[in-house]
Amino acid sequence: MAEADAVFMRRALALAREAAAAGEVPVGCVIVRGGEILAEGRNRRETDKNALAHAELEAIGAACRRLGGWRLSGCTLYVTLEPCSMCAGAIVNARVPRVVYGAKDARAGAMGSVLNVNSYPLNHKAEVTGGVEEAECAALLRSFFLARRAAQEHGKGAGHETDG
Ligand code: ZN
Repeated sequence: MAEADAVFMRRALALAREAAAAGEVPVGCVIVRGGEILAEGRNRRETDKNALAHAELEAIGAACRRLGGWRLSGCTLYVTLEPCSMCAGAIVNARVPRVVYGAKDARAGAMGSVLNVNSYPLNHKAEVTGGVEEAECAALLRSFFLARRAAQEHGKGAGHETDG
């Protein structure tokens, strides 16, 4: 399981790198069932100018279309960054049985960092594994923010928000 988790997380990392190349905070997500990637997503918040355009929501939407239903039974969701409260809510609503994430998000993480969605008496709890390929996931985010800060200090990249 651990080796398979690393393989799928590396695909999510490739999607996160695509996001970074498009000027987006690098977050990537894949949804897997039966050892096969069903759906993928990456952050598109800047490109789409849409607060809802998180990697997990894109992947969940694509997986629902692919399966022809809203219940993602038997699926594992891999994401490079701990899901936020919005995405954790979507994971509950889609009944995703298992979530694997890479880096923790100390400012917005809803699977143990800022809050823990599993601590509430909701109608569904996903099994959560954190810290898979954590160093690489965190390094990608760190280098993105460092580069963006440097660009802003040189007067480029104006108009971007500072939060991630
Ligand atoms: Zn999110």
